Amino acid sequence: MTDADYHDEGYDDWLDAVEDGDGFYLECENGHGSLPPRRVCPDCGATDLAEAPLPDAGEVATFTEIAVAPPSFEDETPYVTAVVDFGPVRLTGQVRDADGAELVGDDVAVGMTVAPAVGETQTTGERVLVFEPR
Ligand SMILES: [Zn+2]
Repeated sequence: MTDADYHDEGYDDWLDAVEDGDGFYLECENGHGSLPPRRVCPDCGATDLAEAPLPDAGEVATFTEIAVAPPSFEDETPYVTAVVDFGPVRLTGQVRDADGAELVGDDVAVGMTVAPAVGETQTTGERVLVFEPR
C-alpha cells in the first residue's frame, strides 16, 4: 500500500471509526488483512472482504525517524513513522505520546506495544493515524 491509497473518503471514514474506538480492518476469506478503501485483497485478489475488529494494541515491527519530511509534514521533524503489526494487518503512522507530542527514535523500540489513535499534522491539520505507547 502506498501513501496515495490513504487519502480518500473510505480512509476518512476509517479514521472516524478508529477515533471512536471502533477501529476495524478488512479480512478476506484467506485471513489476509487490509484497510479501506480497498475492495480487493492485496494478497490474493479475493473480492469478498468482511470487516473485523482491529485489536486495541499492536507491536512496532519497524520504525524510521524522519528528519527531512515532505512539505505537508515539515513542521513536525524529527518524528517517527512506525509500521505496527496488529496480527492480520499492519498499519503505518506517526508515534506520539498521549499528549500528542511526537516521539523521537530513541523513545521507540521494535516490539513496543502501541495503541492506534487519530491525530492531526501540525503543518496542515490533516487527520492522520498515530500510535500511542501503552
Ligand atoms: Zn487474501
